[in-house]
Amino acid sequence: MNENCLFCRIAAGEIPSSRVYEDETVLAFRDIAPQAPVHVLVIPKTHISGWSAAKDADDALLAHLVRVAAEVAEKEGIAASGYRVVSNCGPDAQQTVPHLHLHVLGGTEMKEQMA
Ligand code: AMP
Repeated sequence: MNENCLFCRIAAGEIPSSRVYEDETVLAFRDIAPQAPVHVLVIPKTHISGWSAAKDADDALLAHLVRVAAEVAEKEGIAASGYRVVSNCGPDAQQTVPHLHLHVLGGTEMKEQMA
């Protein structure tokens, strides 16, 4: 755990969050400033700063993270209507929290553009 990392502290329960899924290695919780009717963040509990650091991470953990994103979409009732899984990496992408996370966004029809 990185004491200075917001998402590490959320994973440790030091900062409250609205949890929608949790297991030993992955946590999903609602984004505090939702950009869509459903906006859930999926994070590994261990600290990985972003995709550039993910090359050193466990393959099974990364695969599990993606699977949990799909499970969250099912659980939130947006799997059939459609959803986006977005992950920002670095300054140009506006990553604001340097702990790897997937945004699961849905519950509304989104615009075509990706950026
Ligand atoms: P990113 O900008 O891609 O790094 O995403 C970080 C996300 O974390 C943003 O969508 C924020 O709204 C969200 N966020 C920041 N603080 C919290 C918090 N305490 N609980 C839940 N979500 C948060």
